[in-house]
Amino acid sequence: MTGLCDLHAHTTYCDGADSCEGMVLAAIEAGLEVFGISEHSRTSVPFDTGNLTAESLPRYLAEMRRLREKYADKITLFAGIEQDRLGDMPADGFDYVIGSTHFIEEKGEFRFVDDGRDGQRETADRLFGGDFYAFAEKYFETEASVARVTHCGIVGHFDLVNKNNENGLLFDTSHPRYRAAAISSMSEILKTQRLFEVNTGAMYRVGRGEQYPQTWLLRELSERGGEVILSSDAHAAGALAYKFPEMEELLRSVGFKHRKVLTPQGFADIKL
Ligand SMILES: [Zn+2]
Ligand SMILES: [Zn+2]
Repeated sequence: MTGLCDLHAHTTYCDGADSCEGMVLAAIEAGLEVFGISEHSRTSVPFDTGNLTAESLPRYLAEMRRLREKYADKITLFAGIEQDRLGDMPADGFDYVIGSTHFIEEKGEFRFVDDGRDGQRETADRLFGGDFYAFAEKYFETEASVARVTHCGIVGHFDLVNKNNENGLLFDTSHPRYRAAAISSMSEILKTQRLFEVNTGAMYRVGRGEQYPQTWLLRELSERGGEVILSSDAHAAGALAYKFPEMEELLRSVGFKHRKVLTPQGFADIKL
């Protein structure tokens, strides 16, 4: 078993560019042994559209069942969901759940966490008096309960609030308030013993130099006995398994001895 596994991908059922079958063929081409699609859940946020709905959900699951049989001799396929912390459909019937915080709620208002650099500036100004650290504290406080609320097996992009912060343009992730908020959130999640994904999505999509979680957070996670799984958060076929060899090297360098892979019997270890 090579253990090349990617469980975070999106298709035209939500905001991805390619069909389920297109992504499965690309996954086979990329040499993946295990592949999962994880469409976005519907949420209670009024302006959040384009996700799985009660109507499209059965079609998505049926399509994944069809593809699983069609390509059974080439790849192990799983049908997952990326359940938002504010998701309002039960995540039943899926092979696995990724739990993600895409929104914060402050002063009765919902805001995207990663709404572009200008969007994040506007959120900080309007809701937090221009204090980015208060914004980040709110995000990590929300994220702290993501596993308990979504019942996920995998925690998605743990430090999403850092997405548009290349070169510290918005805030400094070594600031004591940022670090304290992130560590406190990580500690809460660790009590639930869920996996953290090492997600290269923003490296592919917006050219970020670093994965989620940042390297200093991965080191903390390793020291605290956390478990990790690689994911690309691919919204197009070309992003599948992006920079996975580099991520394996990084994981080794911060102390991890293995990463996880999903099998029909559950999560298993792959030695690094
Ligand atoms: Zn996400
Ligand atoms: Zn995603």
